[in-house]
Amino acid sequence: MKKLVLVKYAAEIFLKGLNKNKFEKKLMNNMKKSLVGLDFEFIIDQGRCFIYSEDLDELVNRLKKVFGIAEVCIVTEIETDMENIKLEALKALNESGAKTFKVETNRANKNFSISSMEINRTVGSYILDNSEGFSVDVRTPECRINIEIRGKTYIYSKRIKGIGGMPYGTNGKTLLMLSGGIDSPVAGYMMARRGVDLRCVYYHSHPYTSERAKEKVKELARILKGYTGDITLYIVPFTDIQMDIMDKCREDELTIIMRRFMMRVACKIADKYGIQSVATGESIGQVASQTMEGLVVSDDVADRPAFRPLIAFDKIDIMDTARKIGTYETSILPYEDCCTIFVAKHPKTRPVLSEIIKSESVMEIDRLVDEAVEGMEILREEL
Ligand code: ATP
Ligand code: MG
Repeated sequence: MKKLVLVKYAAEIFLKGLNKNKFEKKLMNNMKKSLVGLDFEFIIDQGRCFIYSEDLDELVNRLKKVFGIAEVCIVTEIETDMENIKLEALKALNESGAKTFKVETNRANKNFSISSMEINRTVGSYILDNSEGFSVDVRTPECRINIEIRGKTYIYSKRIKGIGGMPYGTNGKTLLMLSGGIDSPVAGYMMARRGVDLRCVYYHSHPYTSERAKEKVKELARILKGYTGDITLYIVPFTDIQMDIMDKCREDELTIIMRRFMMRVACKIADKYGIQSVATGESIGQVASQTMEGLVVSDDVADRPAFRPLIAFDKIDIMDTARKIGTYETSILPYEDCCTIFVAKHPKTRPVLSEIIKSESVMEIDRLVDEAVEGMEILREEL
């Protein structure tokens, strides 16, 4: 009798038709990667993925962070034999603490001569005859006892919800503008959860933003890495650009022009590394720069899609997600970011594109962008 888990894939993976194998293979690789350092063994049995490890708790904890998993079930593997099955089913029910139950059998092994329906009935009657206080409820049972008859038999009733989404690395790449705030890590998580390969860029305004602010962003990247398996962080020196904007542009246009530079630099880096899109943590109406007009004016300099997965989320919901994924506590550390230092008292909330283009025309835009990209630091292994 061996304890292991059965991994159930997110339903969307099964909608992929001929591509299903590709997604499944990726998911398997991602699971294996997430289990590095743990003793484990994969048992693939007719499309079902079982994983065995001595350290069941750690196995489950790791799998809870893998995108594309709908459910992890704690399974007992036994020899295929009716007496064993009955005993084990009763044990599973006793352990569940439930009062009502239902037996569900799946017989993949047709050499086993008893039909699924008959197994359900036999096991159900056995439980009722050999215990007290349980009753059958086929509609809404507190405990579903699943019996899978294969070479061996697998019995489970305990299910742990996975994080769902699509296997990481199956849906292209994006470059996330990662600040030290609450929103952008959540935006990155949401893109990654849909299978999008995530790279991050942080604009650092040394010495106006401290080393601690940078460390905080590195820590956020590390937390995201817990879900993605690996992460790259580009740290771009942003002080020269900001100084030049302060020097040459109107105070109320500082923010929008700065945002356009962030967009330009991100697109340039994305282009350099074959990343098809960029992403930010912006949400419509959240702050003065995140108006429809502001977003349109910053998008104007993007040469590829700029995704904003939080666009229609309330702050309170974003904060909930941040707590759930484990970034919140780091995000609220009080270290300043570049935007809080170079902030206008009354930023334009309705910038007009032609006016902004005119204001920027006194700047050497290409040179500033090129220098920022050339000066960037790339972190990967050290995260
Ligand atoms: P966040 O909580 O993600 O910092 P925010 O509500 O504070 O967002 P802004 O400061 O206006 O909003 O930034 C909007 C978006 O711009 C951020 O979500 C992030 O994607 C990007 N961004 C802002 N500052 C930086 C930075 N220093 N480095 C990288 N990206 C940044
Ligand atoms: Mg911010």
